Amino acid sequence: MSDQATMREPISAREWIKNVWDGFYTTLAGMKITGRYLLQKPITIQYPDERMPIPDRYRGIHYLEQEKCINCLACARACPIDCIEMDAIRHGKELEWVSFSVDYQKCMFCELCVYPCPKDCIHMGTEFAFVTDDRSELKHDLLSYKGMSREARIRMKEAEAKKAAKDAAKAAKGADAKEGDDA
Ligand code: SF4
Ligand code: SF4
Repeated sequence: MSDQATMREPISAREWIKNVWDGFYTTLAGMKITGRYLLQKPITIQYPDERMPIPDRYRGIHYLEQEKCINCLACARACPIDCIEMDAIRHGKELEWVSFSVDYQKCMFCELCVYPCPKDCIHMGTEFAFVTDDRSELKHDLLSYKGMSREARIRMKEAEAKKAAKDAAKAAKGADAKEGDDA
């Protein structure tokens, strides 16, 4: 490349001042918004260490009040895409829970499962972070414990003992009546 091609035309002092002013002015204009927020309280948060407040009616991952649930299946029947499954063994009035799962690969967070619950024990929670690279983990078990709660087991034992005592009393009464008939 020739020297002539790389050489620029000299600019006048007036043009030079205008260029300097333009550079200064555009920098100021660009920093105007930055400057406005510079002294304000930050509006960003350090997620996931910090979280924004979540509205009460937010429809996030469900939570179950397991002690109140009666395994009536009303929520599962109401779900339009069949993503609730549950399994429990009934011991008289008490339930031994095996599973209660929601498949979040399918769930569309419509809340239709919540309204028909006769015990008001399934709710949409405020938790939303459910990131995984394993699809099987998206089938989420809502049970906080499997089997029976300690209280349910005590109630069942008391009911069994009461029944056994009643049966024994009935048997003793039957035996007394038989002895009376024989005498
Ligand atoms: S929120 Fe809707 S899609 Fe999800 S489990 Fe409930 S009824 Fe089914
Ligand atoms: S509708 Fe309510 S009580 Fe019935 S199984 Fe579902 S969560 Fe339990």
